[in-house]
Amino acid sequence: MGGGPKARAVRHAGRAGIEVSTGAEQDTGTKRQEAGGGSVAFVAVGSNLGDSSKIVIDVFRRLAELSQSPLLKSSLWQTAPVDCPPNSPPFVNAVAGLVTRAGETPDSLLAKLQALEKEFGRQPKKVLNEPRSLDLDLIAFGTEVRAMPQLTLPHPRAHQRRFVLQPLSEIAPDLVLPGQSKTVAELLSKVPEDICMRRLVERP
Ligand code: ADP
Ligand code: MG
Repeated sequence: MGGGPKARAVRHAGRAGIEVSTGAEQDTGTKRQEAGGGSVAFVAVGSNLGDSSKIVIDVFRRLAELSQSPLLKSSLWQTAPVDCPPNSPPFVNAVAGLVTRAGETPDSLLAKLQALEKEFGRQPKKVLNEPRSLDLDLIAFGTEVRAMPQLTLPHPRAHQRRFVLQPLSEIAPDLVLPGQSKTVAELLSKVPEDICMRRLVERP
């Protein structure tokens, strides 16, 4: 701790230079990371049903509409399914970073992500982790921390998942997710290389 109010740790999230809180400042106030009036949010995108690469690229376009600055886009990665029913097709995974528009809250953003999932053909789940045309997980929303079934922030498994950390490290390697002490790049270097990942499309 120490360092007083001037020791406010801010790191750059990727090439667009969005400033992201490291979480180290223990902001117990509004927890709203000011970034031109909005919060920096990261969304994990996954698809293993239908034309997954096209779906992800189309979704990037829609996510850009939710951002007041150019969307940060990772590469598209093909990844082996994790904890999925047998014979599940591989996933296309990616991560996007956005600066939310004025008035956006974690709940309102999640509702928009869920509406997009539906629009892209996501069916209600019958079997755990069954193939889906689109899965949008909110990885982080500024420095928000909460543990509710309908919305847990940061996403509870993001820091352990190679298919999240690998793309996230392309756009925000120095980000420290709230509750973590290591950067995304450091977390990625520690996570086991247990799944096969292949870059399909370099940062579209
Ligand atoms: P999964 O992403 O684990 O495959 P689903 O996409 O079906 O599962 O999401 C299940 C529930 O998880 C949703 O109803 C949603 O409200 C909840 N949820 C909790 N935290 C988050 C989060 N950070 N991002 C997205 N959904 C979340
Ligand atoms: Mg989900």
